[in-house]
Amino acid sequence: MKERRSASVGIIGGGPVGLCLALDLAWRGIDVAVIEQRYPAEPPSVKCNHISSRTMETFRRLGLVREIRDAGLPHDYPNDVVFRTRATGYELTRIPIPCRRDRYMSKAGPDTDWPTPEPAHRINQIFFEPILFRHAKQMAKITLLNRARADAFDQTADGVHVTATDLDAGNTFKLDCRYLVGCDGGRSGVRRQMGAKLAGDEVIQRVQSSYIRAPTLLNLITPPAAWMSYLYNPERAGNLVAIDGREKWLIHNYLLPHEEDFEAVDRDRCIRALLGVGSDFQYELLAKEDWIGRRLVANALRERRVFICGDAAHLWVPYAGYGMNAGIADAMNLSWQLAAHLNGWAPATILDAYERERLPITDQVSRFAMKHAAGAIRERTHLPPEVEDDTPAGAAARARVGKAAYDLNVQQFACAGLNYGYFYDASPIIAYDGEAQPRYTMHDYTPSSVPGCRAPHLWLSDGRSLYDAMGPDYTLLRFDPSVDVSPLTRTAADCGLPLAVLDVRSREAAPLYRDKLLLSRPDQHVAWRGDQLPATPRELVDLVRGATVG
Ligand SMILES: Cc1cc2nc3c(=O)[nH]c(=O)nc-3n(C[C@H](O)[C@H](O)[C@H](O)COP(=O)(O)OP(=O)(O)OC[C@H]3O[C@@H](n4cnc5c(N)ncnc54)[C@H](O)[C@@H]3O)c2cc1C
Repeated sequence: MKERRSASVGIIGGGPVGLCLALDLAWRGIDVAVIEQRYPAEPPSVKCNHISSRTMETFRRLGLVREIRDAGLPHDYPNDVVFRTRATGYELTRIPIPCRRDRYMSKAGPDTDWPTPEPAHRINQIFFEPILFRHAKQMAKITLLNRARADAFDQTADGVHVTATDLDAGNTFKLDCRYLVGCDGGRSGVRRQMGAKLAGDEVIQRVQSSYIRAPTLLNLITPPAAWMSYLYNPERAGNLVAIDGREKWLIHNYLLPHEEDFEAVDRDRCIRALLGVGSDFQYELLAKEDWIGRRLVANALRERRVFICGDAAHLWVPYAGYGMNAGIADAMNLSWQLAAHLNGWAPATILDAYERERLPITDQVSRFAMKHAAGAIRERTHLPPEVEDDTPAGAAARARVGKAAYDLNVQQFACAGLNYGYFYDASPIIAYDGEAQPRYTMHDYTPSSVPGCRAPHLWLSDGRSLYDAMGPDYTLLRFDPSVDVSPLTRTAADCGLPLAVLDVRSREAAPLYRDKLLLSRPDQHVAWRGDQLPATPRELVDLVRGATVG
């Protein structure tokens, strides 16, 4: 590797968050270098299995969505979440989720009426990350430095200088960049060197996790199959995830509070108890993936020219499938602000918005996930002893447990609030108008045009998605074509702020958008709205490009 390299933005960590950040920055015209210790295209461990709808909207914009949607489970493999006593035991309840063949059309299921052009997608990280890697490799603005370990950085007034080791050659090299982003996961060295501290709950749940190959299991399960199966019986509780829809499975064994040592718990016995199979059942252990569910959030996301995103900034129990997805949301927030500054239309002060917007959301999501985890732990540790009995009392117990499981878990598997409901209510670059944003929960989302919210999605009269029609940067939506917006477009042009104007014709608009005009940011959050332009458009333009941040 060359002794000295440079890029506008350096990224440490080429996991899903680092690669998404690199792809979005490059899409916005910024050159980046990614330092990653793994081999090129080396698959990650089998962790994340869910790409949220909001993340899929991002992949749609970046032109990756078709390839990602086509990967993972077979196209007709059910994406349902099922609750059973054991994998081969009684079914307690089922949350229907369309398979990927039917994903855009199906109306059967609690997440099929969502206001989005891109529903969620169930796919394991081992299939999805290599797609990101392939695209990143093809982009001229991205330099991927694999088999390199970032060791330290120092900051000067105009840049950050990273010292890294070439893991094959054994020598060190330097990466000079204007900004550095640590996407280096839960053990983040960048976070540590920044001096940020994680705080929260160290242990919520220990999980003994095994990646197995079991070619006969699918035939032993009463159809229809499921993408994820929660397994609750008086002996053990766990969770089984279909990885390839044929023979590979990830099985989580939820350890009891006194089972603190992963290796002291008989893995094989627990796997057989969860699957409901005897000693004659054959399977191969491909990898041990044990993990601890936590709720930890960093107290800072930035130190001058250095930022952190993703697991480097927050770790929580993977309820609602919202670890990686929350990290990608961080990256998309930071990316457009960095690009705005590096492309010359926003001063460096715009970068103050990142921490002020994302840190409160991070804390909220971590608490939603923890509250849900506490409910799930309560549910599975208070099972009626007769739940597996072939008697009327057993059937009644299964119906009760099934209903409670559905009511609790539909919130995490149809988490519209987490996807679209979060809003930025204390941002220095949003023009608030006094109306409060609607409350959201993990599950509940109320579309709203209040500044700070995600601009509600709608279908245009020509059949296009509103988001496909918006520009890459700021977009002024005009719902009444008679309003003259030229004072704002002229001012934006004078300041170099890229602004597209989109006349919206759609019958869906009236109940969603209160005002005749709305300014949407590059990340589709509302920056301002009104029936007429402000008296001094320059003040609005300066606010949204961060020129007034104190
Ligand atoms: C069992 C389980 C299930 C999960 N399911 C979901 C789910 O369904 N949905 C979801 O959204 N999330 C899920 N998550 C969470 C998700 O896996 C993580 O949030 C996600 O991987 C974080 O991505 P990241 O890019 O921030 O970090 P990582 O994936 O940890 O990537 C960090 C990268 O940085 C590299 N790196 C670290 N230090 C250095 C260094 N010094 N130099 C060079 N490279 C370095 C590492 O090699 C790694 O590639 C789950 C987690 C678990 C444990």
